[in-house]
Amino acid sequence: MIHLSKIVVGKEEIKAVVDVLKSGQLAQGEKVKELEEKFAGRCGTKYAIAVNNGTAALHTALYAIGIKPGDEVITTPFTFVATANAILMLGARPVFVDIDEKNYNLDPNLIEKSITNKTRAIIVVNLYGLPADYNKINLIAKKHNLLVIEDAAQSINSSYAGKKSGNLADISCFSFYATKNIMSGEGGMITTNIKKYYMRAQMFRHHGQSSNKRYEYSDLGYNYRMTDFVAALAISQLSKLDSITGKRRHNAEIYNQAFKKIPGIFLTYFGKKYTHVYHQYVLGFHGYKLSRNQVKKLLEKKGIDCNIHYPTPLYDFKHLNNGRVNRINFPVTEQAAREVLSIPVHPYLTKKEINYIIRTILL
Ligand SMILES: *Cc1c(COP(=O)(O)O)cnc(C)c1O
Repeated sequence: MIHLSKIVVGKEEIKAVVDVLKSGQLAQGEKVKELEEKFAGRCGTKYAIAVNNGTAALHTALYAIGIKPGDEVITTPFTFVATANAILMLGARPVFVDIDEKNYNLDPNLIEKSITNKTRAIIVVNLYGLPADYNKINLIAKKHNLLVIEDAAQSINSSYAGKKSGNLADISCFSFYATKNIMSGEGGMITTNIKKYYMRAQMFRHHGQSSNKRYEYSDLGYNYRMTDFVAALAISQLSKLDSITGKRRHNAEIYNQAFKKIPGIFLTYFGKKYTHVYHQYVLGFHGYKLSRNQVKKLLEKKGIDCNIHYPTPLYDFKHLNNGRVNRINFPVTEQAAREVLSIPVHPYLTKKEINYIIRTILL
């Protein structure tokens, strides 16, 4: 079986974790601090705040920028559910905007007509590891006085117009869930250049405690802290990030060459200012000799794991819609949910496996 993702924990990672276990410092401590410093350095941001998962990072970021009950937050319906759930956690309302058919990210040209006097922010998802068009999105946000949150759970180490993911918006959120490009089982990170957001995020992660005043609480907070042994694992993974990213990009390039001229198979399109890190490698099947579902069945029969990201647009879930959203307004999302398929692109694939996958799809 060729798996869609493969989790490899090396000797260095095991040693790093065991060293922390032996040290007796298990909760948030020096390792979390070291991870935050290294992470901010990589993104080129002033601040990084570690939390215990990517969903907590989104919840914390939305709190940090001041999202309140009744606010509207614009986002994409074609993403993992946590992106939109985080909006509900603040009592705010997700407002969905359709995606761009070339790359499955939020379509900047459709944002403005969804802005109302309640809109406060836009959560942009860098889907599959490709940044969205931030020049356009940040410009719209500035014009309408909105804040921009980058859901970078899938896009660590990607870049756009010379800047790293994590430094493309007002505040950014990462996940180190087991199948993400680098992982610590569970884990998350927030990055920002704005001190006020940094302070508020730190407070929210730690019960709402004002900095350095123990047992003094200035607002509701949660316990979203990361443990030091998780941080040690993440630090070790971070040191391998460039090599992991390089292998994913290398594998993707082999696929690009194999599929780019095949009628009915669609690749993701993006310009020169983007660096894609291929959290997923996604093909669109439209007018191919097999439908997407037939390709999926064939691959599975041949021992190749694959999956649909995502089969159900978020407005189809009752808790995120309440009957307000009509799917007629989302032709591209509807089509993408029917046509996309993620195939294995992880760093541990062999050339032979990649060729087998290509041959299977091309029959
Ligand atoms: C993984 C993911 C999340 C959630 O991260 P967790 O660490 O699993 O909580 C949020 N948004 C996107 C786009 C993701 O892929």
